[in-house]
Amino acid sequence: MSLGNAPQQRTAPRVVILGGGFSGAVTALHLARTATVPVDIDIVEPRLLLGGGVAYSTPDPQHRINVPAARMSAFSADMGHYDRWLRRSGVLATDPQALVKGGHIFSSRLEFGRYLDGLVREQAAADGPAHIRHVQRRATAVTPIPRDAPPGQSFGYAVALENGARLVADMVVIATSHPPPSPPKALVQALGDDPRLIANPWAPGALDAVAPEARVLVVGSGLTMADILATLQAAGHKGPITVFSRRGLTPRGHALDATELAGDFATRPEVTALALLRRIRATVTAAEVEGRPWQAVLDAVRRDARTIWRALPLAEKRKLLRHLRPFWDAHRYRIAPQPEATIQDLQARGQLEILAASLADITADADGIRATLRPRWGGAPLTRTVDVVVVATGPAHDHLIDAVPALAPLVATGRLHADALGLGIAVDDQSRVIDARGVPDDTLWVSGPLARGTFGELMGLPQVLIHAEEVARSVARRLPGQAAPEPTKKGVRARVTA
Ligand SMILES: Cc1cc2nc3c(=O)[nH]c(=O)nc-3n(C[C@H](O)[C@H](O)[C@H](O)COP(=O)(O)OP(=O)(O)OC[C@H]3O[C@@H](n4cnc5c(N)ncnc54)[C@H](O)[C@@H]3O)c2cc1C
Repeated sequence: MSLGNAPQQRTAPRVVILGGGFSGAVTALHLARTATVPVDIDIVEPRLLLGGGVAYSTPDPQHRINVPAARMSAFSADMGHYDRWLRRSGVLATDPQALVKGGHIFSSRLEFGRYLDGLVREQAAADGPAHIRHVQRRATAVTPIPRDAPPGQSFGYAVALENGARLVADMVVIATSHPPPSPPKALVQALGDDPRLIANPWAPGALDAVAPEARVLVVGSGLTMADILATLQAAGHKGPITVFSRRGLTPRGHALDATELAGDFATRPEVTALALLRRIRATVTAAEVEGRPWQAVLDAVRRDARTIWRALPLAEKRKLLRHLRPFWDAHRYRIAPQPEATIQDLQARGQLEILAASLADITADADGIRATLRPRWGGAPLTRTVDVVVVATGPAHDHLIDAVPALAPLVATGRLHADALGLGIAVDDQSRVIDARGVPDDTLWVSGPLARGTFGELMGLPQVLIHAEEVARSVARRLPGQAAPEPTKKGVRARVTA
């Protein structure tokens, strides 16, 4: 369970990180590198791999990172770190398909998980005041406990584990991020626990039982759908596949040669969703006139996302989420060239149809599952009889807090609540959890996508990376006796170098 060589009796403060996916593992890594005083860092994560999480522990080699390796790293100051690690590791010899036009690498996602795991283990073995442990369990409850007098003013946490053990923490960082997908109600009502409904395609071996000739219906047309098609094609799937989502939007490809971003959205940021949309459209048009792709503009929007988000009033944020999010998701979350080619190939062979439609009705009997789809743009309903239905609607972020029962005692005691937009947990601009009175808590933090309500775009790298680094620095600053960050010309910088 332990990664480092801790002395038996330690009096150091303990930081428990709940969840050891990318956010939790990278927060631990940077906290350990930043700490100038002893600190015990316990990463509570049931998976074997630290850093793997939902995204980077999939064993399927067809599941690839969706941005080039050169833009994925554990160090924002050195974005080429993973790419160099990959080229040195010899992965290209065993997975030559990872290398695409222009010399970019789209490795398997598991490879990125291995890279992160190695970094955390290396850090755990290094000399230094911080001690990292991997507690390979699921947490079942995080309960605030009074620590010092006066009672009720200073808290620590009891973190109960599934095996009945208990950790006592001075600070907790919540990094549980992605809950499993939640299938649409109509599917659950019609199919219940029928094995022909694959509710969680991320579960190991979830698609193993799909027969090669099976007629498959995929609900959702985003990156999870692309993973599913890649798995099926690699398994030699021959049966027809129907994909549908309300808008039928699929993730767009990369413009890999465009390295310069186009546009500035942070200067005098817009205060309405409509004005923002118009500004983006105008910038795309101007960029196209100069021969630059829309991707360069969307990446500039992403770069400026925090400023954009902060400037929008709550009602406008809601409008943005309601009307523009599907388009943003399709353009912002790009698809790797390999699964993009799979989709094109399946379509060209007439094996795959992608529909903009909603589910009107679904019934099931021994002969098959009959789905009636209502096309978005009108026309007669379409009926498809299939053998398997796969849910590809992505993580059920609207159930974030309910999905992690371990957080229930924090909710019940008023120390944690959902943000106003239902994107995650309410935090301040330092990522401290805000309690029911609106007061940020110096001992309770969120790292990663659960802080999206405050930061806006916080899902892919490098935003999640930058956020994890910031959380690590903020937590380190609260360690008793921690040395002040080194001053720089521009301001202050923590003791972190990549
Ligand atoms: C399928 C998928 C693919 C993606 N691919 C890319 C990509 O290629 N490139 C990119 O830039 N971004 C990608 N992303 C974006 C991704 O969100 C972030 O890059 C990042 O992985 C988020 O990691 P996380 O640690 O915050 O969350 P998660 O990966 O959800 O990790 C949370 C961890 O918490 C653990 N946990 C949950 N509950 C408990 C509990 N009670 N006790 C203990 N542990 C618990 C889980 O086991 C899990 O490992 C992808 C996202 C998904 C979902």
